[in-house]
Amino acid sequence: MHSRLTVLSGPSGVGKSTVVAELNRTCPGIWISVSVTTRRPRPGEVDGREYHFVDDREFDRLVEDGALLEWAQFAGNRYGTPRDPLNAKLEMGVACLLEIDLAGARQVKDAVPDARLVFLAPPSWEELVRRLAGRGTESAEVMERRLAAARDELAAAGEFEVTLVNTSVQDVCSQLVALMKH
Ligand code: 5GP
Repeated sequence: MHSRLTVLSGPSGVGKSTVVAELNRTCPGIWISVSVTTRRPRPGEVDGREYHFVDDREFDRLVEDGALLEWAQFAGNRYGTPRDPLNAKLEMGVACLLEIDLAGARQVKDAVPDARLVFLAPPSWEELVRRLAGRGTESAEVMERRLAAARDELAAAGEFEVTLVNTSVQDVCSQLVALMKH
């Protein structure tokens, strides 16, 4: 049985990666795709766990080879979803989740029309700004680019099948798991 792909998207800083980390910890039955990125690892990130960290040449090669289901430029770096490991899991009937940006979610919608698109919304704009600033690992310029992207991304919620408001990580996780069971 081929399972339905779920895509979790939403503005940077809304807490997507926290939700995904919690799912990883508590729901071994859900397979979460590991993206490739040209971004440098943040402190604590491990190659092959949060991302496969690659250089520009390697990313170019993956794009040329058609190895990525989708890819997008985000705040000066490129991010993409490796196609083969995902397809293998879907064909095995495993529930699969992608955590990607809006441009990537749109590409998946075109490439995989039956994908379930889930939008993670912040409780408020002020809360989103607070979370983005709170990370404190980005320069002012990167921060401004992320806020601009977040503004565009918030406006896109209507393109998604489901919107979940990130009031608590546990609530969002259980709502996601419930969705993915159908
Ligand atoms: P970060 O640098 O904070 O880890 O991620 C920045 C943005 O890139 C986030 O919105 C994240 O969802 C997105 N992202 C991560 N992996 C992928 C991917 O494989 N494809 C796309 N299109 N976006 C991704």
